[in-house]
Amino acid sequence: MKRAKFGSMGADESANPALLEVRGAEKSYGRQRVLDGASLVLHRGQRVAIMGPSGSGKSTLLNCIAGLEELDAGEIRFMGTVMGKDSKAAVTLLRRGEITSIFQFFHLLPTLRAWENVEFPLLLQGVAKDERRNRVQALLEEVGLTHRSDAWPSELSGGEMQRLAIARALITEPALILADEPTGSLDSKNSERILGMLMELTGRHHTSLLMVTHDAEAAEICQTILQMSDGRLLDGAA
Ligand code: ADP
Ligand code: MG
Repeated sequence: MKRAKFGSMGADESANPALLEVRGAEKSYGRQRVLDGASLVLHRGQRVAIMGPSGSGKSTLLNCIAGLEELDAGEIRFMGTVMGKDSKAAVTLLRRGEITSIFQFFHLLPTLRAWENVEFPLLLQGVAKDERRNRVQALLEEVGLTHRSDAWPSELSGGEMQRLAIARALITEPALILADEPTGSLDSKNSERILGMLMELTGRHHTSLLMVTHDAEAAEICQTILQMSDGRLLDGAA
């Protein structure tokens, strides 16, 4: 193992190998270098926050990890698989829903009812109807939305939409949730509720969380807070 390069997580490190390793990530848009050697190690069950000025490359990094964008150079390794366009194993991991995302503006599907939004990732996976129904019901209950399950997204409050987005992100039992400013469009009361829920649910399901946030209180639910600056993560690989 070459993990020593990234410093030590302590005595448990070998018992808990890295879930996600980003090494030397580089990405440019035109002549603008947005990621400039960003590195990061995240372990199973760990919550990591990324803070930093607007335009420093935070969303781009998350999008690359989510497979929505590709790096120009460097490497993203998730569950031991190098994520890249030609890697069948990586595609399989993404399709299995091992990485899911939560966004500032929720990105719910407006033509699907609340429960159908949560069900959707399971449909893509070909999960049988009874199992889909049971899992969706259980998760809607966990996020306190059972009574809203037939509502359209447009009928939900901001806080309800984000709880729904959390349910949708958790339905595939992912190893990693990526969250980009998940409380950015919520008032403080709803932010607090969403953060409590993220902390509790990731803890209970042993899900890792990588969260970009401007909000120091949001970052507080994470064990590790990293600063991003000009396309690099300070101490990201420590
Ligand atoms: P942050 O999330 O830290 O605010 P971003 O990763 O969104 O930063 O953006 C970093 C820089 O990259 C910004 O200057 C932004 O304008 C630019 N950028 C992001 N996405 C694209 C894109 N698809 N095409 C061109 N430029 C982009
Ligand atoms: Mg951003």
